[in-house]
Amino acid sequence: MRDIKKILIANRGEIALRILRACREMGIKTVAVYSQADRDLKHVLLADEAVCIGPPNAQKSYLNMAALISAAEITQADAIHPGYGFLSENADFAESVERSGFIFIGPRSETIRLMGSKTNAKAEMIAAGVPCVPGSEGELPEDESACVAIAERVGYPVLIKAAAGGGGRGMQVVRQPEELLGKIQIARTEALNAFKDASVFLEKFLEAPRHIEVQVLSDGQGNAIHLGERDCSMQRRNQKVVEESPAPGISEEQRDEIGNLCVEACKRINYRGAGTFEFLYAQGSFYFIEMNTRIQVEHPVTEMVTGVDLIREMIRIADGKKLTKKQGNIRLRGHAIECRINAENARTFNPSPGTIQQYHAPGGPGVRMDTHIYSGYKVPPHYDSMIGKLICWGNTRESAINRMKGALSEMIIEGIETNAALQQRIMRDDAFVKGEHNIHYLAGMLERWAQE
Ligand code: ADP
Repeated sequence: MRDIKKILIANRGEIALRILRACREMGIKTVAVYSQADRDLKHVLLADEAVCIGPPNAQKSYLNMAALISAAEITQADAIHPGYGFLSENADFAESVERSGFIFIGPRSETIRLMGSKTNAKAEMIAAGVPCVPGSEGELPEDESACVAIAERVGYPVLIKAAAGGGGRGMQVVRQPEELLGKIQIARTEALNAFKDASVFLEKFLEAPRHIEVQVLSDGQGNAIHLGERDCSMQRRNQKVVEESPAPGISEEQRDEIGNLCVEACKRINYRGAGTFEFLYAQGSFYFIEMNTRIQVEHPVTEMVTGVDLIREMIRIADGKKLTKKQGNIRLRGHAIECRINAENARTFNPSPGTIQQYHAPGGPGVRMDTHIYSGYKVPPHYDSMIGKLICWGNTRESAINRMKGALSEMIIEGIETNAALQQRIMRDDAFVKGEHNIHYLAGMLERWAQE
């Protein structure tokens, strides 16, 4: 038992507030860190202590490892929760946190490093028996004729991806054999520029898959469970817009099968913490694409259907405690949907920072709003445009959608633009209502909307 008494929250916005709330419930003291643009963040006002870590530029504040670790030292925190984004999947950060004598609330740095390489992650998953997208075994070689042979074997169309990739960068679709070598070169250059690593690999390009991911918890002491799946197929430019749990049309047998494989994979790598296995789902089969070794934006839909507080579990695991829940205790109840609320124009997606003149939160049974905004709060222009998440639960998918429609119309955010009108359209969209959308569906829907 390590006994965490004070946690430094190395993040901002809604997730920082979410972590603060979990800490308060658990009787753990909190340290907020903030940039000069973020003095008025709600969790900064609520935290037991708050430390300014630098200027608005995230490179000099939320990504500044030395500033974060000094803040933990000054405040004598025991542990650091990285949230999502920023340094949450940075193995060097996890390592320096632990080297400096603090607990990193997440996996061991070696695990983050291993899963940060998509080719290594895939090799581990293949070894654990998790189905992957067919493709090159590891990185593509320099030899051109070998690359041509691999692509022939996999079959066109293929996708070239950066081994160190993230955020959808460094990917190239190849439909014709004659484009292959040129596109590999483009992908290598992009990967080198974005990730300082030119290694790329090749996968079968799946034409219209759904994005389905499995949530796991693993204590690093031999115990792991899965908490069902989420469907995050409603995406724009690889950014998730709506997420839900369970995924429409997935049977209990399919859930158990893929979930148990993820549990086995956790045990194999002795995973510690909360994690997500991301899959593409096509023609009734799952294909692993990557693992996220952190809490995800969309974690609340899983919390709403399982009743498990994932942030609390992460903290308990980091504190050296064993999982108390067994797989048999996890039952999915009803259906939950999350709409991301962004400070942006609903049609052009242009960011819309500024002062929120009025804010009225939606409410009622099964309605959860995770947000740091309040009337008078000024959304700074320096960070991601997501200002909150509206999550609605219902006994059935249909009732969750109906609640979401009501909650979206009840929500008032004045002074800045938001994407609420887009979310309303999605909730009323025929294909979405039937659960028939895939990862490309939203792009087409936006084109049709633009032509109206
Ligand atoms: P990143 O880490 O850059 O986000 P991912 O491997 O998660 O990269 O892929 C990002 C997105 O690209 C996926 O959500 C999916 O939309 C698309 N994608 C990835 N691999 C494939 C594939 N083999 N076929 C079709 N689309 C893919």
